[in-house]
Amino acid sequence: AATVYYDKDADLKHLAGKTVGILGYGSQGHAHAQNLRDSGVKVIVGQRPGGANYDLAKKHGFEPVSAADAAKQADVLNILLPDELQAEVFERDIRANLKPGNVLMCSHGFNLHFGLIEPPKGVGLLLVAPKGPGHLVRSEFVAGGGVPCLIATGGDNEDASFNIGMAYAKGIGGTRGGVIRTSFAEETETDLFGEQAVLCGGISELIKAGFNTLVEAGYQPEMAYFECMHEVKLIVDLLYQGGLSYMRYSVSNTAEYGDYRTGPRIVTDETRAEMKRILEDIQSGRFARDWMLENKAGAPSFKATRRRERALPIEQVGKELRRMMSWIEEKEVD
Ligand code: NDP
Ligand code: MG
Ligand code: MG
Repeated sequence: AATVYYDKDADLKHLAGKTVGILGYGSQGHAHAQNLRDSGVKVIVGQRPGGANYDLAKKHGFEPVSAADAAKQADVLNILLPDELQAEVFERDIRANLKPGNVLMCSHGFNLHFGLIEPPKGVGLLLVAPKGPGHLVRSEFVAGGGVPCLIATGGDNEDASFNIGMAYAKGIGGTRGGVIRTSFAEETETDLFGEQAVLCGGISELIKAGFNTLVEAGYQPEMAYFECMHEVKLIVDLLYQGGLSYMRYSVSNTAEYGDYRTGPRIVTDETRAEMKRILEDIQSGRFARDWMLENKAGAPSFKATRRRERALPIEQVGKELRRMMSWIEEKEVD
């Protein structure tokens, strides 16, 4: 079982006299920067001007600087930029400004694990990854709690990096929730596998296939939407609170019987074998290579797929139906 650390295992003194640079004031960046500052840590924000995130950082009382300046001033630098851009920004603005003894951080190991970023000798490597979105990292901290975090170390001086990482985790509230020690490989590979096979890829395809089956059989699309998309949230909320057992306790006995009887016809031996191949694609670096090549080419297939998926009938039906439910905080992209 995993080792879990709490407040008493962490000491903010390991960040005393150090400047923490937060690159990016997006989802994670805004939360880390503010929580650390509230914990008494000296924080400098690196955020390009001209957008909403720059304005937000100013509004929150930071004086955002360029990525290069943040890298120059920081002893501990967390890159909280989109994963596919980190390597480029690292080569352009960061590498030359790192000094021996500095600690380079991330909140997802994609670039360090797959060697897209190869830091100079003498630099410590550290991952502190909250297991939740940035707004929750901030709101939980303000409420006196904290989102659990993962911690991993690498590079030179791992013991020092670990102490700094625990102080960082404490500073953002993570040790109030619990901090699990992992490795760059484990964090990166499980994160990618989870989002591809289950959370994003798996669920999206399951919803679309269920919706299409009902619509093609002549049922009304509105009915198909409610059954296959809308109600997912009700089920997920139950899973979140009490796992499979509580979900099955809460639904009807008929639904529970149908779950046991039919679930194994949806996820079959073939699906499980494919999951192994998906994991192998991730472990071998093939997925990372393809995603980076896709970006090098200007992401044509990513953008085309996004466009087509946004135009699907289920998306149109959903937009109409969500307007009828006043309690839903509706969101629309583009
Ligand atoms: P966001 O997309 O929310 O924020 C990205 C930041 O990068 C913004 O400040 C943005 O500034 C800046 N940025 C984007 N493009 C450029 C560019 N070309 N040059 C300079 N700056 C740029 O990122 P997240 O917070 O979601 O992700 C950051 C890291 O945290 C990633 O490694 C991610 O995997 C990890 N993570 C994310 C979680 C999440 O729930 N979101 C959970 C755990 C880890 P601008 O506004 O100007 O575009
Ligand atoms: Mg992820
Ligand atoms: Mg039902």
